[in-house]
Amino acid sequence: MTSQPTAIVIGAGIGGIAAAARLARNGFQVTVIEKNQQPGGRCNQIVRDGHRFDIGPTLFLMPEVFAETYAALGERMEDHLDLRRIDPTYTVHFSDGLSLQLTADLLKMQLQLDAIEENAFDGFLRYMAEGNKHYRVSLEKFVGRNFYNIFQYFSPANLPLLFQLKALTKHYHNIGSYFNDPRLKAAFTFQNMYLGLSPYDAPATYSLLQYTELAGGVWYPMGGMYRVIETLTAIAEKLDVRFVHNTPVKQLKVEGDQVTHLELEDGRTLTADLFVGNADLPYIYKNLLPDVAEGKALENKKYTCSTIMFYWGVDEVYPEIGHHNVFLAGDYKTSFDRIFNEHTLPAKPSFYLHAPARTDPSSAPTGQDTLVVLLPVGHLDASRGQDWDAMVHRARKTVFERLSNQMGVRDLDQHIKFEIVYTPLDWKEQFNLEKGAAFGLSHNFKQVGYLRPQNRHARYKNLYFAGASTHPGTGLPIVLLSAKLTTERIIKEFGQYNERRIIRPVSLPTQV
Ligand SMILES: Cc1cc2nc3c(=O)[nH]c(=O)nc-3n(C[C@H](O)[C@H](O)[C@H](O)COP(=O)(O)OP(=O)(O)OC[C@H]3O[C@@H](n4cnc5c(N)ncnc54)[C@H](O)[C@@H]3O)c2cc1C
Repeated sequence: MTSQPTAIVIGAGIGGIAAAARLARNGFQVTVIEKNQQPGGRCNQIVRDGHRFDIGPTLFLMPEVFAETYAALGERMEDHLDLRRIDPTYTVHFSDGLSLQLTADLLKMQLQLDAIEENAFDGFLRYMAEGNKHYRVSLEKFVGRNFYNIFQYFSPANLPLLFQLKALTKHYHNIGSYFNDPRLKAAFTFQNMYLGLSPYDAPATYSLLQYTELAGGVWYPMGGMYRVIETLTAIAEKLDVRFVHNTPVKQLKVEGDQVTHLELEDGRTLTADLFVGNADLPYIYKNLLPDVAEGKALENKKYTCSTIMFYWGVDEVYPEIGHHNVFLAGDYKTSFDRIFNEHTLPAKPSFYLHAPARTDPSSAPTGQDTLVVLLPVGHLDASRGQDWDAMVHRARKTVFERLSNQMGVRDLDQHIKFEIVYTPLDWKEQFNLEKGAAFGLSHNFKQVGYLRPQNRHARYKNLYFAGASTHPGTGLPIVLLSAKLTTERIIKEFGQYNERRIIRPVSLPTQV
């Protein structure tokens, strides 16, 4: 190569930052264009009156994947993140008053599980063994690699693995081989919600989630989840990546099989040798690219659920509330049907409550508390007449009632100094997430691996994607893998592309 190749990344979510840094490390001159004021996308924070809220992710899982990203950038994760293991990972509260602490302490697990169902601990050990197998095989054979054509995906070597991984068995059906008690079945399947999926639709492959939590651990970076974004951004800047904020991209201009340049909302244009879309993939197809039909077709794909969020600054500390708390509704199946089929808030919603100050006192002023509540809810659906104000009101009431009934926390409503609320409308508006689906495209059998929208556009050979709605999928570590796979693909393919570039050169990005 005679001159430094150039790349523009659209979006500074974790996928965009990691892809930009990896490309820079591989010799590209990289600019990241972000619509919002700060990087991070869904992995963001709100800081107000001494309270620090993680707005999206709160569970740091699969630390080995994070460590690989730092290492690929020439750094050591431990020099950047002060990780603390959270154990018990969380307390699950059932609607009948029973609670279960999920912990890596096997004796404690045995005592709790066998008290709920005879020999349940035996089922738990078998379930963990299955989760271990699913995790290792998935990561090596499906999640951690690129598929360049359908024959690689459905290859004779891979086909038997789809059965071994129970990719065609539903997770909730499969859990019946390990437990009979409906509460245990719920406690070991609700984690599918991290992928925005119902356990009644999710492949049984996702037992790997429970394994990663209890074997690999649930961790928390001191200073908040946003430390991951801050440190990766600093590393990218050290590698000469240029970040431009408050600058939404309006359109991608194409010619033949190439994206030639992009147009910003403010009217300026930028050009580069290649482009990486980190903004939600269906949004890019629908709003930034010219092919209307392709964008429309993506509307018919399955999307993950969304969430109603409460961010509460509280002038009181309730020690009964642990770091991670899950409150499950009694009507488990109906709840998922309401979220995923009717796209609404269940009559009896389940929810998750995060109290980071239990581990990290810097997240709240002394003697006060920072609480985040997440309630899974259906994604935006114009045909349903969704009344978000009414749903938020009902959600808030549910949280107060369950905290009062199950934890004796009776006066929380009187100690909330301020409240910030997010609904699916906010997820869409703030981050351009199609349908406000908080976790992007769904991960059912037809939308994973080669069947998921690929990390390079089929027609525009210099347009790549890195993020939750392309291969391999959602969740911070999986999006880091996406950035890795996309960069690998670019490096592999750019040689060919670059030869054509010599015939038809394109100019360097203009200054912003
Ligand atoms: C409520 C919630 C809880 C979650 N909990 C967890 C968890 O505990 N653990 C976990 O691992 N994962 C969790 N996740 C998932 C995780 O947050 C996501 O998978 C991940 O952050 C997605 O990163 P990304 O880079 O793909 O996309 P994004 O974070 O969406 O980043 C894309 C970026 O593109 C920008 N953009 C959009 N349009 C434009 C445009 N036109 N021009 C310029 N920029 C644009 C956006 O502003 C955004 O900054 C959670 C997500 C949510 C919403």
